[in-house]
Amino acid sequence: MEQKTLDPAVQAAVDQYKALEEKLAHFLSISSLLEWDQKVTAPKKGRPIFAKAIGTFRTEEFKLSVSDEMGELLNTLSTPEVYANLDEITQAQIRERKEEYSRSKKIPADMYRDYVVLTARANDAWEEARETNNFSIFEPFLEKIVDYNRKVAGIFGYEHHPYDALLHQYEPGLSVAVLDPLFAKLRESSVALLERIKQSGSKPNVGIFEQSYDVEQQKKFNQYLLPLIGFDMNAGRLDETVHPFAQPMNTGDVRITTRYLKDNVRSAVFGTIHEAGHGIYEQNIDPRLEGTALSTGASFGIHESQSRFLENMVGRSEAFWHHFYPTLQQHFPEQLGQVSLTEFYRAINSVQPTMIRVEADELTYNLHIMIRYEIEKALIGGEIEVKDLPEIWNQKMQDYLGITPATDTEGVLQDVHWSFGGFGYFPSYSLGNLYAAQLLSTIVREKPDFYDQIQAGNFAGVQQWLKENIHRHGKLYTPEQLIKNVTGEDLKADYLVNYLEDKYSRIYNL
Ligand code: ZN
Repeated sequence: MEQKTLDPAVQAAVDQYKALEEKLAHFLSISSLLEWDQKVTAPKKGRPIFAKAIGTFRTEEFKLSVSDEMGELLNTLSTPEVYANLDEITQAQIRERKEEYSRSKKIPADMYRDYVVLTARANDAWEEARETNNFSIFEPFLEKIVDYNRKVAGIFGYEHHPYDALLHQYEPGLSVAVLDPLFAKLRESSVALLERIKQSGSKPNVGIFEQSYDVEQQKKFNQYLLPLIGFDMNAGRLDETVHPFAQPMNTGDVRITTRYLKDNVRSAVFGTIHEAGHGIYEQNIDPRLEGTALSTGASFGIHESQSRFLENMVGRSEAFWHHFYPTLQQHFPEQLGQVSLTEFYRAINSVQPTMIRVEADELTYNLHIMIRYEIEKALIGGEIEVKDLPEIWNQKMQDYLGITPATDTEGVLQDVHWSFGGFGYFPSYSLGNLYAAQLLSTIVREKPDFYDQIQAGNFAGVQQWLKENIHRHGKLYTPEQLIKNVTGEDLKADYLVNYLEDKYSRIYNL
């Protein structure tokens, strides 16, 4: 990139700004490490005390991001004639920071403080409500959380729908107007496809998973698999937690976790591949973005596209298991020795409506998201009330999945997201699937031997493509720009709809 010569006063402001950004990146890196430690290694008794220390640390980090120094620098550097002369990376940094700065400044400090207390208490209430299967314990807290988010939407501002302002926090630039038709198409086609699958007389044999799989053998297999699919073990590690996650400290230290269940061999394998997808993304961000706020994924949806691409489009493909299945069989000769590749492939792709989102298959998963999206949008839009949620939830489950939860614990109370106020978050999961399918269509067009390479166990070419097109850019581009640059189009539902139709037609002989 051509380095432009800047006016000395501007150059001094740029230097000062970059030093401040680097300091913030260091703060973030350390707080990530603290969070990882809390979840993975810290002894139970020390956690609540340590959580307070993390809170103090994060407050300092936040103060720095909204400091007068930051405000003045952003002011100087975002004046049009100055901004126009900055390089692409500095421009993108300022775009991101300015947005975050102005949002943080808009929320009155006391309002935010009350909200932090509210969500902490709401989380306890949510847990108690789940334990006792009593939605009314959580209801008053959720009402206040919805009120707060509606107020925030008003403060942030929006053009058409208040939910747009909340969506924007996770998927910059996305709106209800764009999402509604995408999701409607996906929902309608998925409901219809699910119906045909239910009618099919050709069912995969999931009984092969209803056996005991030795945990030590599972660990060996996952540790064998992880580096082969592109995760750099010299720039990361794999640990165990109840809820798997990926946490980057920097591009050279990305930590992921998985969980091993004796009675569910699929959980660890696909959980590991999923988190590896997140991890590989972070490991391959351009080193030039290190020390800036751009050294992360483009958005929640794009991040999720990388994990879902690796988990589903790659990890649940026949080509993938053509390569890895013999090794899996060697690890579990008793359980899988007599099970053919085709039988195994069909079983890992079986479709079965379930009450619980995180246990859902590739097809019905999106229907779980549609339910949450429609409810959130209507709550924030003031069309429905919190007290009616259990009933609305159950009705939608029946309409889309054909099953009704017996309790609110396995229904409306199942996810943690609303207790921390994460309105606008859920759509990211299905967006990830939509982006992933659109990327698959592009990669197959550009690399017609894509699945042959996977079948040969060669992931280098695939990972190089993802690095070149997605990973290295970090947050340099908005999700909309990025997907258009790579695929040549705006996000469309057709790719995922066709992918699902094609895949399940073959598996279920439709
Ligand atoms: Zn994920």
